[in-house]
Amino acid sequence: MRVLLIEDDDRVAGPLAEGLSRFGFAVERARSGAEGLSALEPEMVLLDLGLPDMDGIDVCRELRGRSDVPIIMITARDSEVDRVLGLELGADDYLTKPFGVRELVARIRAVTRRARRSVLAADRQQAPYAGRMGGRAPVGPPEARRIGPLAIDRRTRKVHLHHAPVALAPKEFDLLVCLAEDPGAVFSRKKLLDSVWEPNYFGPTKTLDVHVAALRRKLGDSAWIENIRGIGFRLVPQAQPDRAKA
Ligand code: CA
Repeated sequence: MRVLLIEDDDRVAGPLAEGLSRFGFAVERARSGAEGLSALEPEMVLLDLGLPDMDGIDVCRELRGRSDVPIIMITARDSEVDRVLGLELGADDYLTKPFGVRELVARIRAVTRRARRSVLAADRQQAPYAGRMGGRAPVGPPEARRIGPLAIDRRTRKVHLHHAPVALAPKEFDLLVCLAEDPGAVFSRKKLLDSVWEPNYFGPTKTLDVHVAALRRKLGDSAWIENIRGIGFRLVPQAQPDRAKA
């Protein structure tokens, strides 16, 4: 696997690159954001937040804007994780320095497994879905799961609301798909973390709340996702708006 390591600090990058190559990864090193962005499309990106020429956050945003490559952010402090999460950049995981090569490799493998799983899941989900909203038949392409005005296409990983595209980060999409498996049913926090992140997810659990908040905002109405305090969340289908669409 080709890993792009975007990190300016030689004391961090040197041992990491050496350690990763011992585990069989082909590591390409970039010392700045610009260098990282001009690298050939890698299969995995390890991205330091503090870079000399630009903010790692902007690098992440730009990478995410053009590809689904898994991104693991490397932060110097725990407090930076909050900043990264709050921006909903669509990074797949986070590591706070210092960390060992073994931990990094475990995260890379987990992120890769998840990415592979969501592709497989998308392949398996091509069967038409019988509409359950008021017994109406699904409208539009058969791959698209419709919940009221919301259409979720797992094959193309696209979401439309009132026929307008909704841009979701990969984890936001996975979370929505999970909740949409059974609209109205309550999914426990653990179930959501296990399905969308990984079994025995050991990152910050507020990750889930941040992604829920982002989804609510992007769906334009917080009523879409109800918080069942102390238990979890459920998707509450919202009706079509009364007014005719212009
Ligand atoms: Ca740095």
